[in-house]
Amino acid sequence: MEWQSPISPGLSWYEATVPDRPSYPAMPGSQRADVAIIGGGYTGLQAAFNLAKGGADVTLIDACRLGDGASGRNGGQFGTGQRAWADEAEEVLGHERAQLLFDMAENAKRYVLDFAGAHGIDIEFMPGQLSVGHKRSFETDYRRHVEAMAERFGYPHLSFMNREETAHRLGSRHYHFGIRDTGTGHIHPMKLLVGLARQAAFAGAKLYEQTKALKVEKKGGAVVIETNRGTITADRALIACNAYIGDLEPVTASHVMPIRSFIGATPVLTNHPEILPGGESVDDSRFVVRYFRKSKDGRLLFGGREAYTADNPRDISSHIRRQIREIYPALADIDITHAWGGSVGITMPRQPFCREVMPGVTSIGGYSGHGVMLSNYCGKLYADLALGRATELDLLTDLKIPAFPGGTRFRSALLFLALSWYALRDRL
Ligand SMILES: Cc1cc2nc3c(=O)[nH]c(=O)nc-3n(C[C@H](O)[C@H](O)[C@H](O)COP(=O)(O)OP(=O)(O)OC[C@H]3O[C@@H](n4cnc5c(N)ncnc54)[C@H](O)[C@@H]3O)c2cc1C
Repeated sequence: MEWQSPISPGLSWYEATVPDRPSYPAMPGSQRADVAIIGGGYTGLQAAFNLAKGGADVTLIDACRLGDGASGRNGGQFGTGQRAWADEAEEVLGHERAQLLFDMAENAKRYVLDFAGAHGIDIEFMPGQLSVGHKRSFETDYRRHVEAMAERFGYPHLSFMNREETAHRLGSRHYHFGIRDTGTGHIHPMKLLVGLARQAAFAGAKLYEQTKALKVEKKGGAVVIETNRGTITADRALIACNAYIGDLEPVTASHVMPIRSFIGATPVLTNHPEILPGGESVDDSRFVVRYFRKSKDGRLLFGGREAYTADNPRDISSHIRRQIREIYPALADIDITHAWGGSVGITMPRQPFCREVMPGVTSIGGYSGHGVMLSNYCGKLYADLALGRATELDLLTDLKIPAFPGGTRFRSALLFLALSWYALRDRL
């Protein structure tokens, strides 16, 4: 039966291609746990899996179904490094910290591939990524980035593509130049989510759906989470709600803002071997980034069009088709078989947010569109922390992530204005 996520619009092609997405029960009543986790996306489930494997008693709740947030619905692109380029971060943080953050993201990439391989989860990994420039004026920055990554960050997998190579690898002359990254790739996000949830349950984590956290507080040395299905009392807790935090916890809500992003899937492109012949995924240089790739069976999965309010547009398909047409005129009338969206959690500096928001309660999110590999790894790192093991999570805790300006009343309106301005600049 088709399932419509109550918190993310549209029916995804991912869902349609994972016929065996399991359901988990609602929490049967109040619980006691070593660690409580709120949010069943990659962050929460990886934490649950690793904690349970490490011998902890873990209870994870999700207000909807596991994967109804971003983790089951995203573009599936790993990318490389953090969202902000390492050479940009270097200017602010210095080389050593920028390198450590870059290395952390490389560890994240390896972690996800190793995790899927070790547990026999077919995540449909396909190698290769093209980052393409829509304005000639960005060319020098792109060339410098390739050099910096090889010479200063020890990443030799990037090469600069001139206009001809870019056109050949894309099957489109829409872009001026690009960077080819042979050290990364893309996956089927829902297959990873479903496999991960199964492994977490198998390791002994208690997973509950349709169980919404209403309040988190510290009471007499314990963390107490009030839900619509009873109370969880735990030694510590992880808030892994990312862009869907709502008004559950104000510190996270003021640092991680939701942006809606939308994806459309076409039928299999049987007559267009010229489109992405190498099977890479693509992201472009627009502020409202367009990201696309072919699925393993040859559909175009095209993401773009952002919205800065939580309203659900009535028609996602025609916007996506218009953007496809600009890049691939031959697909002007292509069918969009599935169209959906979800909320991406962004922070002001586009670096992840990780903070102890009250004693014993850590919140992690705000991967800023780079969370496929990072959220999985951060969930694992949180488990390491809770189990008393060495962890790279301090690298994120040390980052200065300012709150969005405007307070709870005005920050959405201010963000809307700021982002709309940047979106307008994409067209100038
Ligand atoms: C359309 C789209 C495309 C994207 N494309 C890419 C991409 O190509 N590459 C990339 O790296 N990243 C991409 N991202 C981002 C990436 O998907 C996320 O960074 C990542 O999935 C975040 O995982 P998470 O577990 O932190 O959060 P989520 O997966 O969003 O999970 C949060 C969960 O918290 C639950 N929750 C919220 N409030 C409560 C509550 N009160 N009680 C209980 N549960 C609650 C929600 O139901 C939800 O399931 C994309 C995101 C979207 C939406």
